[in-house]
Amino acid sequence: MEGEEPVVSLVDVLEEDEELEEEASAVLGASDAEHCSYSQVYVKRQALYACGTCCPPGGAAAGVCLACSYKCHEGHQLYELYTKRNFRCDCGNSKFKDVTCKLNPDKEEVNSDNKYSHNFFGLYCTCSRPYPDPEDQVEDQMIQCVICEDWLHGRHLGAPVPDSVELQEMICESCMNHNQFLWTYAAQITVSDPEVKPGPDQPKEDPKQEPDEEPSCKRPRHQEEPEVKAEEGAELKEAGLKEGAGLKEEEPKGACRLKELQLIGQSRSQSGATFWPSGWRSRLCTCQDCQTLLSEAGSLFLLDEGDTVLAYETKGKSLERTNESAADPLMSALDRLNRVQQLELIHEYNDLKTELKDFLQRFASEGKVVTPDDIRQFFEQQQSRKRRRANGQLYSA
Ligand SMILES: [Zn+2]
Ligand SMILES: [Zn+2]
Ligand SMILES: [Zn+2]
Ligand SMILES: [Zn+2]
Ligand SMILES: [Zn+2]
Ligand SMILES: [Zn+2]
Repeated sequence: MEGEEPVVSLVDVLEEDEELEEEASAVLGASDAEHCSYSQVYVKRQALYACGTCCPPGGAAAGVCLACSYKCHEGHQLYELYTKRNFRCDCGNSKFKDVTCKLNPDKEEVNSDNKYSHNFFGLYCTCSRPYPDPEDQVEDQMIQCVICEDWLHGRHLGAPVPDSVELQEMICESCMNHNQFLWTYAAQITVSDPEVKPGPDQPKEDPKQEPDEEPSCKRPRHQEEPEVKAEEGAELKEAGLKEGAGLKEEEPKGACRLKELQLIGQSRSQSGATFWPSGWRSRLCTCQDCQTLLSEAGSLFLLDEGDTVLAYETKGKSLERTNESAADPLMSALDRLNRVQQLELIHEYNDLKTELKDFLQRFASEGKVVTPDDIRQFFEQQQSRKRRRANGQLYSA
């Protein structure tokens, strides 16, 4: 810092932050608003809608892509399903009696690999209620299970929701039991202790504030269709996160991390939903036996960080910026790193942004002005936190 310390107006900072937030309507960012995604066959992850007008409850469930929700179901009663994995657009196929797809009318009768749930009829959670629920006065957050992709009420998870839930992936109890081996990992890596948080002095978030960047599960659902900027997004550029290839092989041949953990035999009550810290998927054993185990449970995607909502959102933001021909230097730098480096950096980046925002909000609530000294202090804190993280203390749940 040279001479007089320039003063950053907090209003400026927060206004800019708000712009960033809008820019980051990342749910849609990596989905194509113009072209039906059917030709891409089963899309790794995309924004998805169900039409209550064309496919009312009691009939067959169907899902349509973002572009079809605009072009073929305008004015219909649409359920926003947020994003789902491995889905092929159904618009206009045999499940639709009165609608022909305007974007891609040549579809096969059904997409046999699509998975459906009561979400496609506008119902969520183990209690099978609509969202928002006119009969429900309790304020509660909906959290998406990363395996079945249903949305569950925080109070119906059978486990306390950790404070840092936006940094976690959640697996519901039913999916835990369907993937029994996950209980073994859960004893080691899940966040069950509410005291395990990113930092001791981190201020609590105002629950009404949506953090700039919510990596995975938690997101207030929007009922109206937000505007979309992404054009031909999917084809434009791969952020390098799409393919599941390139998994890290860390353990020596023959050693199964899962069996090792089973030998340690840590006990953990096998009930309730579990919460997993960012990067947890890379800690699953990838030996042949474990891959078979995952495959049999239909959960092989757990070995793929590119399957996460975080990866999808990050890709969306990167595409958005490419489209605006003002490529984010961070994102273009990301392109030059290998997969593991990319993911590490993305996690760090997201953590940092969340924490910086919390930090700034503290000043806002106290009506103070942020000085360069404050910022310096913030980054110094980050450094020491990073060192602690490197020691692995953060994950010792
Ligand atoms: Zn479509
Ligand atoms: Zn419709
Ligand atoms: Zn269509
Ligand atoms: Zn519920
Ligand atoms: Zn589930
Ligand atoms: Zn193994």
